[in-house]
Amino acid sequence: MKLLAADRPIANLMRGREIGSNLVLSADVCVVGSGPGGAIAAARLAAAGARVILLEEGGSFTRKADFHMQEAEAYPKLYQDHGNRATDDLSITILQGRGVGGGTLVNWTTCFRTPEATLALWRERHGLSDFTAERFGPHWDEVEKRLNVHVVDAAEVNDNNAVLMEGAKKLGIGTELLRRNVVSCLQTGACGMGCPTNAKRGMALTYLPDAAERGARVYADCRAVRLVLDARKERVTAVEAEVLDPATDRPTGRRVTVSAARFVVAGGAINSPALLLRSGLPDPHGRVGKRTFLHPVVATIALFDRRIDPYYGAPQSVASHAFIERPGRTGFFLEVPPLHPMLASLALSGFGAAHREGMKLLSRTNAVIALLRDGFLPDDEGGTVSLREGGKRLSIRYPLGETHAEAMREAMKVSARIQLAAGAREVRTLHKDPVVVRGERDLRFIDERPFGPNLLGVFTAHQMGGCAAGADPKASVVDGNLRHHHLANLWVFDGSVFPTSLGVNPQLSILGIVAASAERMIATG
Ligand SMILES: Cc1cc2nc3c(=O)[nH]c(=O)nc-3n(C[C@H](O)[C@H](O)[C@H](O)COP(=O)(O)OP(=O)(O)OC[C@H]3O[C@@H](n4cnc5c(N)ncnc54)[C@H](O)[C@@H]3O)c2cc1C
Ligand code: SF4
Repeated sequence: MKLLAADRPIANLMRGREIGSNLVLSADVCVVGSGPGGAIAAARLAAAGARVILLEEGGSFTRKADFHMQEAEAYPKLYQDHGNRATDDLSITILQGRGVGGGTLVNWTTCFRTPEATLALWRERHGLSDFTAERFGPHWDEVEKRLNVHVVDAAEVNDNNAVLMEGAKKLGIGTELLRRNVVSCLQTGACGMGCPTNAKRGMALTYLPDAAERGARVYADCRAVRLVLDARKERVTAVEAEVLDPATDRPTGRRVTVSAARFVVAGGAINSPALLLRSGLPDPHGRVGKRTFLHPVVATIALFDRRIDPYYGAPQSVASHAFIERPGRTGFFLEVPPLHPMLASLALSGFGAAHREGMKLLSRTNAVIALLRDGFLPDDEGGTVSLREGGKRLSIRYPLGETHAEAMREAMKVSARIQLAAGAREVRTLHKDPVVVRGERDLRFIDERPFGPNLLGVFTAHQMGGCAAGADPKASVVDGNLRHHHLANLWVFDGSVFPTSLGVNPQLSILGIVAASAERMIATG
C-alpha cells in the first residue's frame, strides 16, 4: 500500500533495545509521555526552538510491523497493564493506551471540542477564568486541520451505530454524526488494535514527527521512575528513567537520566499523579491523585434478528447528548462501541454454555454505551490514585454511589428503549444476573436490581483528573497555566489536569488546552 503524504517515521527515535548503556542527557525541556498532551507540547516547544527530549514507557509501533488486527496481540502490547488495568476492587475495567502516541494508538477517533457548559463550570467553580472557547478555538482549528478532523459521511455509519441513530430517532431523542481524525479510512473497525493502514491521524503520525523534525528526541521503552528535586524542593533538576526490554516489558537494568531547565509531565490521568507521588513532590494539601474521573460506562447489549456485524466499519459515528444536562443529577451521553470477540467475551454476562450461546450470536449483537459525566455535582469528588507496595504499584479507588446508580439505571433504560425501537428482539444489561428486557414493562427490573461493586459491569476508556487544575492551591495541583503550584519549572500537560470529566470524548480537549498552555510556557521564557 502506498504511504500517505503525512506518513513519515519519527526521526530521532531511540528504542529500548538500542540503549546498550546508561545514558546521561540534557535538554531545555524534558517531556514524560507521548499521548496527545505530550506530543503536542513537544511539537510546540520544539517549533519554538527548545531542545526537547521525550520519554515514553511504551514501545514504538508502526503499521507495517505491528498492527495485525488481533486483539490477543494488541491488548498486552498497546494498553496499560497489558489490558488488565482496573480499580482495586475490580469493579471498573480501565482501558487506557500505552506506547509512542499514547491513547491515540488505540482510540476510536471520535473528536469533540470541550463543551461550553464544561468550560463555564471550570471558570466558575475551579477559578480557571480564561478557560474559554475564544482562547482555545484557534488551537482547535489548527489541530483539526493537522489531524483532518471531519464529520463522517452518513454512508460510513455502520449497522452497529445505525441502531443508536434509528432507535433514537423513532423515540424523538436527538443524535448527531460524529467527527473523526482519519484520512482515507478503510473502515476495518480495528482502531482499538492500532490502525493497520495509517488512516488514523494519531500522534505517532502527526505531532511526534513534527516535533522530531524540529530536533526533538523520542526515547521509547523508557519509564520515568521519578523526578529529582533540588535541595530546597523548589525546582525539578532531572528525570530518572528505567529502560524496558520491549520483548518482556521488564527493566533491562539500564537507566536514562535527563537534566533540563523545564519539565513536562504528560503520562496521562492515573500515571501522571502516580509519578508525582512516587517522586515525593511537594503536595501540602494532599491534592495529587484526588479528583480522578472516569466517565464510568454502562452498556446494554441488544440481540437482533438481522446481522449487525459490530466489529466492522468505523467504530464510532453517532452519539447522543440529549441526557447530558440533568439538573441535580449526573448527566450521561450515549455512544456505540465496536464489539470484537475478545472484548465482547469480557463484557457479555453469563458463564459456560450461556456465555457460549451469547458469543455465537455476536454477528447479530449491538451494544449502546452510556458514559456518565462525573465530577459535575458539587459533592462528586470522583476517585483516587495512590501508591502501594512502597510505590511499586498503583492503587485506583473509585466509589460508585447513589448518584451514579441513579444515572446508570436511567441510562440503561434509555438505551434499552432505543435498541428495542431499532428492532432488537431483546436487550440484556451487564448485571451479574442480567436483566432481560423485551418490552417497556420489563424496564422496572433494572430499578429493582441491587446496585454495588461487581454487581454490574462498568468500564472506562476516558481517564481524567488526578492533577487537577485550579486557581486555589489548596484544592488543585496545577494553576490555570497548567504549571505546578509549588514547583516553578514543572508543568502537567495531559488529561490529568481536568478538574472534572468533560462530558465528551477527551482527545481534542487535551490537544487544544495543552497547545494553548504550551504557548504560555514558551512566552514565559
Ligand atoms: C479503547 C479506547 C478508545 C478511545 N476512544 C477515544 C475516542 O474515540 N475519542 C477520544 O477523544 N478519546 C478516546 N479515547 C481516550 C483518549 O485516547 C485519551 O483520553 C487520551 O489519549 C489521553 O491523552 P493523554 O495525553 O492524557 O495521555 P495518554 O494518551 O494516556 O498518553 C500518556 C502516555 O504516557 C506514557 N507514560 C505514562 N507514564 C509514564 C512514565 N512514567 N514514563 C514514561 N511514559 C509514561 C503512557 O505509556 C502513554 O503512552 C479512547 C481511549 C481508549 C483506551
Ligand atoms: S477503521 Fe479506519 S482508522 Fe480505524 S483502524 Fe480501520 S482503517 Fe484505521
